[in-house]
Amino acid sequence: MTWRERLPAVRGKLLMDEPLAALTWLRVGGAAEVLFLPADEEDLADCLRALPADTPVTVLGVGSNVIVRDGGIDGLVVRLAGRAFGEVHVDPGPRQVIAGAAVLDSAVARAAAKAGISGLEFYAGIPGTVGGALTMNAGCYGGETGAVLVAAWGVDRTGERRVFTVAELGYSYRHSQAPAGMIWTGAVFQGGRGDPEALGQAIAAITQRREATQPIREKTGGSTFKNPPGDSAWRLIDAAGWRGKRMGGAMFSPLHANFMINTGEAAADDLEDLGEAVRADVEAKFGVALEWEIRRIGRRRQRRA
Ligand SMILES: Cc1cc2nc3c(=O)[nH]c(=O)nc-3n(C[C@H](O)[C@H](O)[C@H](O)COP(=O)(O)OP(=O)(O)OC[C@H]3O[C@@H](n4cnc5c(N)ncnc54)[C@H](O)[C@@H]3O)c2cc1C
Repeated sequence: MTWRERLPAVRGKLLMDEPLAALTWLRVGGAAEVLFLPADEEDLADCLRALPADTPVTVLGVGSNVIVRDGGIDGLVVRLAGRAFGEVHVDPGPRQVIAGAAVLDSAVARAAAKAGISGLEFYAGIPGTVGGALTMNAGCYGGETGAVLVAAWGVDRTGERRVFTVAELGYSYRHSQAPAGMIWTGAVFQGGRGDPEALGQAIAAITQRREATQPIREKTGGSTFKNPPGDSAWRLIDAAGWRGKRMGGAMFSPLHANFMINTGEAAADDLEDLGEAVRADVEAKFGVALEWEIRRIGRRRQRRA
């Protein structure tokens, strides 16, 4: 019997060979061997506990910073959705926002602003989930997750529930030292005191600025590469002549040179090959090795039958 035939009973959904492209912003890639939509944290923990230890587990948020490769993802892919992971609460006394991992960052920003909690407005500019933000230390315009987080909790690969304070997560630029395999299910954020109307205006300004400077209506994955120390990835890509350049259906955006776009016909391979061509060229011209910010997950080629 294969591991798929021995999957435990769950209260959520287990979907075999489920296509993933539509669950990502870049709209590319193959299928999950098994896609798991847990009903709640307990369902997730029970399933992980029962899964053979050598079965790979991958987590997806709303796929705004990933390329799922064309051969799909082996093992179990977990996607948190629904009420159990999608609630956001405000505690006005200590000025804290408590959010499930599937809550959109923009909903955290809006809930905080409405309650007069300042410092979380930057989340209005990030189109991911709380779970993605915890893993990526998502941030923009001077704000970042590690600076506003109090604690995060979730389930590890063995199904054990664990809680971490922000200090224990060792955040740095787009990086955390959380143990590999943690699946975040929720977090609490801390803000300061602010005026709801002014915070609402700050959010509107961030949204407008995004519209003007990023291809947010395209199939994109956000920043392709991390900014190297003391420089900007977009500046190097631009200076190397790649702004607006295409390879097949993959292109570097004319609007923001560090954003890759699927013009419609790209495969994951095209996007990854274009990214690698740019990395090699930037390194040859400027001696800077760009590091991928987009997470590339799965296998490049089809699994053998
Ligand atoms: C138009 C656009 C603009 C963007 N602007 C910014 C920006 O200004 N600043 C910024 O930081 N990012 C930006 N991004 C990138 C992206 O939105 C962030 O990285 C976001 O935090 C990813 O969240 P997600 O839910 O989409 O995660 P995904 O892309 O689905 O996953 C990203 C990583 O997080 C992990 N992950 C997701 N959920 C969980 C979970 N529950 N537990 C454990 N791991 C998890 C995944 O395994 C993966 O490694 C932008 C993207 C786009 C498309």
